[in-house]
Amino acid sequence: MEIIRLDPGELYIGTAPAEVHTVLGSCVSIVFFHERLKLGAICHGRKPDHVCRPATTGLKVCRELGDHVRCSLEFMLAWFDTRGVPRSELEVKLFGGAMMFANSLAGGTGLGMGKRNVDTAMEFIRSRRLHLTASDVGGPWARQIVFFTDTGEIRLKRYRKSAQELERLEQLG
Ligand SMILES: [Zn+2]
Repeated sequence: MEIIRLDPGELYIGTAPAEVHTVLGSCVSIVFFHERLKLGAICHGRKPDHVCRPATTGLKVCRELGDHVRCSLEFMLAWFDTRGVPRSELEVKLFGGAMMFANSLAGGTGLGMGKRNVDTAMEFIRSRRLHLTASDVGGPWARQIVFFTDTGEIRLKRYRKSAQELERLEQLG
């Protein structure tokens, strides 16, 4: 089985079995899975939203697509729509959105970014009436998740470390 490392700002859609690994701090990953067709998708958004207009008539790809939670969700849902997957059959899972103080001070993501990312994802899920079947969000924990695109299974570990520290540990093996 192929092993995919998903970095911040990336998005993956799988039509064959794969194992997707990603590490989350204040970022969020949203997983879409369709059981019968064995289709799985996962994003890793750093920021909640920005001003861009999705097309209603086709699949328009935003320049900063993967970075933004809302754009990633619009794209993933449109992709499943074009495959004829009924929205009522989609399983949606949401992870991450930690309150990473150390990260924020070191530059980067800003206090409250985790919560804003989660709020944006939840608002999208509610407004499209999607089924949220699992979530693990907030708190001071970095998370490592592994998504199996053929079964929808998620393995999740929480760490009392920043995502950057965790990345370093991962690279060491
Ligand atoms: Zn956009």
